[in-house]
Amino acid sequence: MVTGASGGIGQAIAIAMGKAGASVAINYHTDEVGAKATLAEIQQAGGEGIVIKADVAKEADVLSMFGEVYSKFKTIDILVNNAGIQKDSKFIEMSLQDWQLIIDTNLTGQFLCAREAAKEFCKRGVVAGSSVAAGKIIFISSVHNIVPWAGHANYCAAKGGETMLMKTMAQELAPQKIRVNSIAPGAIKTDINKKVWSDPEQATELFKLIPYQRIGEPEDIARVAVWLASDEADYITGTTIYVDGGMTLYPSFAHGG
Ligand code: NAD
Repeated sequence: MVTGASGGIGQAIAIAMGKAGASVAINYHTDEVGAKATLAEIQQAGGEGIVIKADVAKEADVLSMFGEVYSKFKTIDILVNNAGIQKDSKFIEMSLQDWQLIIDTNLTGQFLCAREAAKEFCKRGVVAGSSVAAGKIIFISSVHNIVPWAGHANYCAAKGGETMLMKTMAQELAPQKIRVNSIAPGAIKTDINKKVWSDPEQATELFKLIPYQRIGEPEDIARVAVWLASDEADYITGTTIYVDGGMTLYPSFAHGG
């Protein structure tokens, strides 16, 4: 299952998982056309999937989404907790509504989906021949789980909270052979930051933050997700992999300090 798979990073992950042989539950919130395009690309590559509408912030939606997955595919092996949004404002002007929307979508949504997946992994256990783990959960975090970002307190709080949720789950669930990890993207070219990369002036400022001197593509994240979900990455749990072109390397220190 990939949440928020109608566009951007989630879409690229769902397609890459489908091409790697997974049957993919493609979750979307409002963009049904995007979700169907994700499914079409998986099917063109000979894979299979289903499209499921659900707001990850709503418990009833999440429970019914997992119900749909079980009626179609019987069980779940991999959850990619990708759905996430931004609602930016100066801290002293941030409304409770904007705070809550981001916490509900980006943190509570990840909690709800992770809990449901973990329940199934614990109940079912390891399936010999499928994977050496009983299940894998990948959170799509952000460099802003450790890099403060003025004007985005709600987003940073959610991503920082996600990191401790991921680590605590990893510790608690490791004896059940469940691996829980995060991927923290830097700047990836999607709708979430279109305002920045489509404006030459803002794009120039963005490049100053990326030592590797290119914006990331959703496929940069998708490749890591497929690998992290595979048995190639067995023994990795409770960690965050930064896929950020060096954004977390304090780029401003390259020329001073
Ligand atoms: P995007 O806007 O293209 O995609 C976000 C996806 O989340 C969309 O498919 C949207 O429909 C879905 N979504 C939003 N609210 C939802 C809800 N309530 N229920 C279900 N789905 C919902 O943005 P993206 O860049 O692809 O973002 C994906 C994830 O990557 C997010 O968690 C984001 O925080 C993270 N991220 C992105 C970047 C970047 O530079 N693009 C960097 C760091 C982290």
